Amino acid sequence: MIDNRTFLLSIVISVALVFLLLVFFLRALQLSRSLKKQNSEIRTLLNKIHRIDDELTFVLDFIRELPHLTGELNNQMNPRGIPQVLMNVLVRTFQPEQAVVLLRRKRTLAQPERDKEFIAAAIAAPRSTFDRGMVVTMGEGDLGYVAQQHRVLDHSELDREAQPHRHVRAKGLSAFRPDLASPMTIDERTLGVIALRRPEKQKPYGKEVFRVIAQMGAFALNNLQAYAEVKSVADVDPLTKIWNKGVLNFRLGELVFDAEESKRSLAVFLFDIDHFKNYNDINGHVAGDRLLQTLARLVKEQVRIDDIFGRFGGEEFLLILPNRTKSQARITGEKIRATIEDYEFPFGDKQPLNRLTISGGVACFPQDGRNSSELIRAADQALYQAKRAGRNRIMAAGAVALAD
Ligand code: GH3
Ligand code: MG
Ligand code: MG
Repeated sequence: MIDNRTFLLSIVISVALVFLLLVFFLRALQLSRSLKKQNSEIRTLLNKIHRIDDELTFVLDFIRELPHLTGELNNQMNPRGIPQVLMNVLVRTFQPEQAVVLLRRKRTLAQPERDKEFIAAAIAAPRSTFDRGMVVTMGEGDLGYVAQQHRVLDHSELDREAQPHRHVRAKGLSAFRPDLASPMTIDERTLGVIALRRPEKQKPYGKEVFRVIAQMGAFALNNLQAYAEVKSVADVDPLTKIWNKGVLNFRLGELVFDAEESKRSLAVFLFDIDHFKNYNDINGHVAGDRLLQTLARLVKEQVRIDDIFGRFGGEEFLLILPNRTKSQARITGEKIRATIEDYEFPFGDKQPLNRLTISGGVACFPQDGRNSSELIRAADQALYQAKRAGRNRIMAAGAVALAD
């Protein structure tokens, strides 16, 4: 009886034990499965965190660039400096295999169509198929297509949209296939294009960062253009459209310094209209103004590209002649004097000398003056001598005056 009970009890205990073991085993299995699942979730999460961290570093690196980039862009006084600044930031941020910054060309009277062209102003391209100075036309190739847009385009968008603009035999910039490209626009006006190919750093926010760079470039180019327009208006004499006295004094100061440094010569030619008061009195102030305009145009047509010509006072003009000796400057002055004498100005015959004429003085650095004011004074004295000697003549500083 006891044996039977003991036997039964041991069976019950054994079954219970097996059951417990089974439960324990199943639980362990469940636990290990859920652990495995959690593990892979953690791994995905870690990957995600890694990607976010990477992206954040990319964006943070760019944000760190921003103050420097803004400063650099604002410091550029020449539009040609801006593309290089943009190129530097593109290279640092994206590490592309190739990149290009294009500037829109300005239309001129002779070439009104030129503003449809974009010129490569900065490039980064170790395996280059294009060079600086190359030109792409609006609507031609991927870059020409981008120039007509107002947004950033990536590789797949370009493949989809720019197809009709691609030509099989296209070379150079027209054949360039960027992975990221953006126009630099202000008020729907495209001032340039930035584009790059095969960036080592290709991030989801890359397009956003690229858009910011393009926009900053556009602002910088626009500011500089506006500044240049205001400055040129402020520097030019409104009546005669030649440089005003401020510019003449500033440039003369610079050129005296250059001449000193390079041990080259520099000459000035100062001239004044003869009996201009008489011209005004007889023909009126309006005719006098017109005469000043005509005379300025005649002289401007005669001077060289490096010469600086401006209105020094009411009816007094200054021509700065870099790299010219006194005798060369005298010849230039004489040519101008003869041109004025020969020109048929209206009412010129009513002048005391029967023609409209000028008198001038020439002075040279360093013989006649060691700084700009000494030079001007020497030229003015020579001009005074020319007036005293009977007008319609050029005198050089230091020369013996002819008595009138
Ligand atoms: P000189 O041969 O000695 O130089 O005689 P001048 O009559 O030319 O010299 P003066 O200094 O007596 O007179 C200069 C005149 O130039 C007087 C002034 O009214 C005139 N003038 C100065 N600026 C202007 C201008 O912008 N427009 C006009 N119409 N006349 C001007
Ligand atoms: Mg005068
Ligand atoms: Mg005069």
